[in-house]
Amino acid sequence: MMEKITEKYRGHVLAVPYPSQGHICPMLQFCRRLVSKGVKASLAITKHISTTLNPEPDSHVSLVTISDGFDDGGFSRAESISAYLARLEVVGSQALGDIIEEHVGTRNAITCIVYDAFFPWCLNVARKYGLQGASFFTQACGVNYFYYLIHRGKFTMPVCSPTVDVPGLPPLDVGDLPSFVSSPESYPAYLDLVFNQISNLEEADFVLVNTVYELEDKIVDVMSKECPLLTIGPTIPSFYVDKRIPLDKDYGLSLYHLDPTPTTNWLSTKPQNSVVYVSFGSMACLPKAQIEELAWGLKQSDYHFLWVVRASEEDKLPKGFANEVAAKGLIVTWSPQLEVLASEAVGCFFTHCGWNSTLEALVMGVPMIGMPQWTDQPTVAKFVEDVWNVGVRVKVNEEGLVRREEVKRRIIEVMEQRNGKLVENSNRWKDLVNKAICKDGSSDRNINEFISKIYTSQ
Ligand code: UDP
Repeated sequence: MMEKITEKYRGHVLAVPYPSQGHICPMLQFCRRLVSKGVKASLAITKHISTTLNPEPDSHVSLVTISDGFDDGGFSRAESISAYLARLEVVGSQALGDIIEEHVGTRNAITCIVYDAFFPWCLNVARKYGLQGASFFTQACGVNYFYYLIHRGKFTMPVCSPTVDVPGLPPLDVGDLPSFVSSPESYPAYLDLVFNQISNLEEADFVLVNTVYELEDKIVDVMSKECPLLTIGPTIPSFYVDKRIPLDKDYGLSLYHLDPTPTTNWLSTKPQNSVVYVSFGSMACLPKAQIEELAWGLKQSDYHFLWVVRASEEDKLPKGFANEVAAKGLIVTWSPQLEVLASEAVGCFFTHCGWNSTLEALVMGVPMIGMPQWTDQPTVAKFVEDVWNVGVRVKVNEEGLVRREEVKRRIIEVMEQRNGKLVENSNRWKDLVNKAICKDGSSDRNINEFISKIYTSQ
């Protein structure tokens, strides 16, 4: 089963994700794939996450802990995002240096740091110790390229034209742009984080992007001229794609506690393609009025639905709603999303178009109803609807709300396959995205190239 690039290989990758769900999972998956090909990989998690989760040892990847400067409480203890990031850079640089030094002179000497693109400073740590550095992007290439153009002063918002034209991307309306571009004033705290990703991009030895070449071929070709870019996605557990990595059935590190049984039991009683799965990921906070519109729209659609309403959002539900709809709907605070999307019972995914969720839906061939909230999600929704044609995007009214009638209309449109090509396209993309990570697929070849280069550089 284990495909080794070379028996002699002794490379050791130290991976450093941003400490959030949507960043840890793709990097851990990438590490598992490296290990399956003979590379040693260690994943650095913060002490706070380690003590809170107390994770089981991973069967493939070594888990190491680093301090982010807030061991007792993590991010929530910092007075602001910028204060958190500033301290993390200082304390984290030291902690990474200590780990690297511990391994110097051993047969597990670290050879390359794969760092979250949110942490460009990791490249300085790599260079200090003479190691290679690979920036790892957890968002779509099209979105990263946008940030690149803006950071380098190569993009200005058009004044006269209603659409934005960027090489490799379809014409975009203002509402399709990443929110940091269309309304930067709304998210001052995140702006630096997002644009700093680009600061030393050309100096990295590799720029790894969790996407699939076939999904974004034009933009990947354009951006590859600017930096050493390799597409390596989808970073989905191997069980759901190529099945080449033993014991790789789930993401491994979940920041949310979950008993999957009630969800999977409930789904198992539902007929094929009869359930609408609704989730807005790990971060989105919807206004109370929007949650109410969703609730009534779901009820009025008369389809079965499985809705993830995180604990912090639960009090926005209409009073007594869960009981009122118990015959049709199940509301949970977190779901085993991969299992849910893989279930035959699920007919469509009502999603915020977070990049991981979107890749997961593409891998499983589930048509989507996009209701993007912020960051890269509007741009991803544009791709879902108009480039890959695997879903539709809800219309927002003048008050910024998606009304219940629209929720119902879109559900019926997709569940009753009134939009004839959605299922066919979803199946076609499922095939292409899966092939990319299978032996000799585009991502598999890129991962092999990465491994051969970190090996030969030593
Ligand atoms: N997820 C999950 N259960 C849930 C909701 C989300 O396992 O109930 C996972 C989902 O499979 C995905 C991640 O959380 O891997 C969410 O990442 P995404 O990029 O889609 O959105 P974000 O949370 O970053 O907004």
